[in-house]
Amino acid sequence: MSELTPTALVTGGSRGIGRAIAMALGEQGLQVYLTYASKAAEAEAVAAEIIAKGGQAKAFALNVGNADAIAAFFQNEIKDKVLLSALVNNAGITKDGFMLRMKDEDWDSVLGVNLRGPFICLREAAKIMTRQRCGRIVNIVSVVGQMGNAGQANYSAAKAGLIGLTKAAAKELAARNITVNAVAPGFISTDMTDALGEDVQAQYLAQIPLKRFGTVQDIADAVTFLVSDKAGYITGQVLSVNGGMYC
Ligand code: NAP
Repeated sequence: MSELTPTALVTGGSRGIGRAIAMALGEQGLQVYLTYASKAAEAEAVAAEIIAKGGQAKAFALNVGNADAIAAFFQNEIKDKVLLSALVNNAGITKDGFMLRMKDEDWDSVLGVNLRGPFICLREAAKIMTRQRCGRIVNIVSVVGQMGNAGQANYSAAKAGLIGLTKAAAKELAARNITVNAVAPGFISTDMTDALGEDVQAQYLAQIPLKRFGTVQDIADAVTFLVSDKAGYITGQVLSVNGGMYC
């Protein structure tokens, strides 16, 4: 295994928080495999930026809503090809709406991308990390998975489920020297939150004791720590990075 290149897999690395995580892990000397759903040019640009800074990176199309595609990706690109040092389950979507009017397909797609997809990535990564006898898994959850949010029943449920998965997987994988943790962002300025209106953003800001929205770097720093050797005795935890919004 030792000749294989230590690699971090970051899902949804083309934009926003995932992009910042990919850049930060690239700066730590890990090869970065970053995935995207549809924005190939953005993902290729992130990989090119990591390479321009002296790192190693590749971008891959991978819809985490497609279980067969995930299994094929791990088989074709990861297994016996790289040392899988870290998996960051970052890809996520929202389809907001009040519960009474929420369509089944909006429930299913949000649970599919935000919970089932990360579970399948985690399971496939764990098969490889178990053989390696080392690995770090970080799931990007959300403050709304901790406190709930009106209009986000599907997203809140998915992120709360991902917290439960984090804790169960941490217990199952600890004996193989694999840590599993979650980072729970509060309100971070990205495309996802830019889509909310100014009045909704102002309501969120009023709830944040540190009186600013988080940055993608705030989240990347937390993930970098959990992936690092300094976090070797931390597993099954949720690291909230939310400016004090929920504590
Ligand atoms: P974003 O800017 O909307 O970016 C989403 C990323 O996920 C993109 O790279 C996108 O790829 C990818 N993606 C979307 N659907 C996918 C699919 N089916 N398969 C694979 N990749 C897919 O989101 P963000 O704000 O950076 O959020 C990143 C993570 O942080 C998410 O899990 C989100 O729930 C969580 N989070 C965000 C906030 C916040 O305030 N922004 C707060 C709490 C938690 P393409 O570019 O190809 O579309």
